[in-house]
Amino acid sequence: MLAEEYRVGGTCVIRGCVPKKLLVYASRFRAEFEDAAGYGWTVPQSSFDWSTLIANKDKEINRLEAAYIATLQKAGVSIVKTRAVIADPHVIQLADGKRVRAQYILVATGGTPTYGDPIPGIEHAISSNEAFHLPELPKHVVVQGGGYIAIEFAGIFAGLGSQVTVVYRGENILRGFDDDVRAHVRMDMEKRGIKVIVGCKVAAIERTEKRFSVLFTSGNRATADCVMFATGRAPNVNKIGLKEAGVAIAKNGGVAVDEYSCSNVANIYAIGDVTNRVNLTPVAIREGHAFADTVFGGRKVAVDLTHVPTAVFSDPEVGAVGFTEAQARARFARTDIYKAMFRPLKATLSGRDTTVLIKLVVDGSTDRVVGCHVVGEGAAEMVQVAAIAVTMGAKKADFDATMALHPTTAEELVTMRQKSASYAREAAE
Ligand code: NDP
Repeated sequence: MLAEEYRVGGTCVIRGCVPKKLLVYASRFRAEFEDAAGYGWTVPQSSFDWSTLIANKDKEINRLEAAYIATLQKAGVSIVKTRAVIADPHVIQLADGKRVRAQYILVATGGTPTYGDPIPGIEHAISSNEAFHLPELPKHVVVQGGGYIAIEFAGIFAGLGSQVTVVYRGENILRGFDDDVRAHVRMDMEKRGIKVIVGCKVAAIERTEKRFSVLFTSGNRATADCVMFATGRAPNVNKIGLKEAGVAIAKNGGVAVDEYSCSNVANIYAIGDVTNRVNLTPVAIREGHAFADTVFGGRKVAVDLTHVPTAVFSDPEVGAVGFTEAQARARFARTDIYKAMFRPLKATLSGRDTTVLIKLVVDGSTDRVVGCHVVGEGAAEMVQVAAIAVTMGAKKADFDATMALHPTTAEELVTMRQKSASYAREAAE
């Protein structure tokens, strides 16, 4: 039995990856129209209609939700559209009053946006949840945060025509990504007109008639029609009976689980964002599959989270798998770096001021490629394929032996012969 209080599909399908990618596609037409001129096209004055995009996006999400429901029903799953709370390790209390006995309970309740420390006027801020249903495209948007959601929505809003200011508390956006990637994304975002303010936070949001006056910790102000916070998400562990059933919560705020996604209560498992391990859809799917194999399939399967490829669908796009340069240098006796930064062929005739970054991080002792980082058009698609090689343990020599496919951006992955740098691990003090 599957209990769902809202819509079937979870964050990814209903208010995450899928609708986000549709908005990303929409936002990229602006650059395509601009770039077309260099290729001889005269594009008639373009105009954009937010309500058409949102209505079409909603239609597609409805279609997908119906498809998921049909697949579940075909597989014999009974779906109850109500909230479920664990009454004891073998009993589920449904909000409609029914109680259901269960041999196993799988918690996959995901996460919810968080807004950080309380500030005056925080009630005016929206999260990504609301961004998908704004009544109109805001003219000026202030986005707080420097992670996936902030950087993706900055690109979406800017591409659709909003003026965008990103406010990030740290030194540079996309903490956790390779430093070259972070610098490159920021540089290109700024070239596209997005204002990036670092070392700063939103201190207060005041309503001024129809707009907002946003006060920053620097003392400066900006006027905005929309203030979006993308300051992380917290696992949905509250008010679902976990505490009462004796399920332990980990330091990261998620359900504490072992490598088989089993909690400290033997028949209660948890997967996905509610465990706050690696909060990405394919990881949750893999964890769910491993749970099914382990509990019902007669073979114990643990999920290996060593090589998780990831993408930021920002403008420019990021794709990454494996270690960053900094991680590799701390881990391996010697780290070799191969790096190329170049103007993509498409940008020659279009005249667009943009560059692609391709970077391989190699364990110098074994020649294994332990990290692959790409910034630019098609980065996510490239890295999904490169992730096969990295997961297989391919060596730099295997990349070199691979015939290039010309003319592509990805060919640079197999044609970088000269090391850009080589580092010996610094001795620990
Ligand atoms: P992230 O953890 O990626 O980013 C949160 C950002 O908010 C960070 O820049 C963080 O700064 C900043 N922040 C956190 N707390 C505060 C605060 N109190 N004041 C100011 N800034 C703060 O979370 P997101 O909300 O962007 O996304 C949630 C998760 O969803 C991601 O971790 C990711 O797993 C998933 N996701 C994946 C996508 C993809 O695969 N393409 C797309 C969208 C979401 P700092 O860096 O200093 O900690």
